[in-house]
Amino acid sequence: MCPLLLAQSHDPESQLKYYNQVLRDAEASSLDINLEVVGKGKGVVASRNIDEGVTVFTERPLVNLQHLDNHASAIVCQACLRYVGSIELQIGHKLRSLVDQLRGAEQGGAHAESGGSAGDTEDEVDLDGALEAGERLEQIYAHVTPERIAELCSGAVTLPLTDGFRLPKPMPCRRGCGALYCSAACEAEAWEHSHCLLCTGTRTSSSPLVELKAEPFWEHARETNEIFLLAAQVVVSTLLRAARLLAGSSSGAAGPSDAYRSALLAAWQPYMYGWKRCWWDSVAVPDDVDDEEEFRTQLKSLASDSLELLSAAISDPRFGPELLQLEVYGSIVGMFELNNMGLSVPSPVEDYFLAVDEMEEGAEKQAVLQITQPLLDALDSEYASPCESTAFLALQSCINHSCDPNCTAVCDTGDRTVTVLAQRDIAAGEEITLSYIDVTLPYKERQAALRDYGFVCRCTRCVADAAAARSKRQGGAAKGFKVGRRR
Ligand SMILES: [Zn+2]
Ligand SMILES: [Zn+2]
Ligand SMILES: [Zn+2]
Repeated sequence: MCPLLLAQSHDPESQLKYYNQVLRDAEASSLDINLEVVGKGKGVVASRNIDEGVTVFTERPLVNLQHLDNHASAIVCQACLRYVGSIELQIGHKLRSLVDQLRGAEQGGAHAESGGSAGDTEDEVDLDGALEAGERLEQIYAHVTPERIAELCSGAVTLPLTDGFRLPKPMPCRRGCGALYCSAACEAEAWEHSHCLLCTGTRTSSSPLVELKAEPFWEHARETNEIFLLAAQVVVSTLLRAARLLAGSSSGAAGPSDAYRSALLAAWQPYMYGWKRCWWDSVAVPDDVDDEEEFRTQLKSLASDSLELLSAAISDPRFGPELLQLEVYGSIVGMFELNNMGLSVPSPVEDYFLAVDEMEEGAEKQAVLQITQPLLDALDSEYASPCESTAFLALQSCINHSCDPNCTAVCDTGDRTVTVLAQRDIAAGEEITLSYIDVTLPYKERQAALRDYGFVCRCTRCVADAAAARSKRQGGAAKGFKVGRRR
């Protein structure tokens, strides 16, 4: 039996109606949604000529998540990705996280050494890693002391020139789970969106009354796949929106009533048409996996465990069972694996060090450098590491990939939007394209990277590259073939 929430996803009329509203919301007056772009399914096309450099549309992500491993590099608002705290805190935090990571790697190596299973390649790799970690730690401590890192984190020191780089004061989650926001408005928005049910509560034992219902779910996601955290945001925000819609309607009762079903479908609409296939059926099998069936079964059981923990954390009499089904959950995770957009927000720490660098040469700059240069040397390349997150956007997720895209996307944390710009003139009727991958990669590596998105790219550039490779193999039989544009 097809679950209710998946059954509706292929009605073209309601789909077009929804996307026309999305186009209006994004002020995308020069675009049309085409549900059947040849060979690709849904796509976005230009309805009139668009000039190079013009903003094609702007929209806000429906959900976003700072990558878990990126928390070590950047302290940002969990709602809008704005950097919070201060330059001093951001630098101190980067260094402290780096030291913690390196200590862990060093101890991992020491553990392998005493483990005694000599000759095991994995242990040898660990030892190499441990040596490298040790060297990097020494490099850090050659420039800063642990005390210096602590005072940067605590706000006990002020670095020169940071006046020009003021960041909003961090606003902690009302229940003290550790999540930080840039403002009371962002905290409240996240709380109402989904955090009220996904908050893990206080991490201290000072308020024992707070139940940590969501903690086992988070722990499982941290250990297996962080995309589950994003999927949970979708599930919870949909359920809460449906409950709100229902509370606003005349019929009050939840559960399997028609009113509840239509409220749920309305709340689910932003995700309804993004659905492709279940996660465990659609992901590309990694090269080192021999047994594909077992691999897919394992993924399915991971999703099943995750959903069980999530359901336990958010049980609420207002919610019916329709959304908390494995096929629906798997389709959300699958949609994210295929349609998500990576957002990268440059760090103010990078701008700060650039500003120091650009100071006029002289005594004043020398005095500043005396303070900042050791920090820069300790941070090394980490000084420029940005905030990295993944997001799902209603319109952007309809845009197909090209290795020679006609548009590019930029993220603005100020108003929490993603803007898509034309990077060359686009003619009416032409399909709008973005690149999902690093377009500077050569043909084979591009195709390998795109395998994770479940398709073989046949863009003009790939077709030309493939033809060029073929003609090379055939000893120049297709001599004179013109290779597509390259910059
Ligand atoms: Zn914010
Ligand atoms: Zn919280
Ligand atoms: Zn391509």
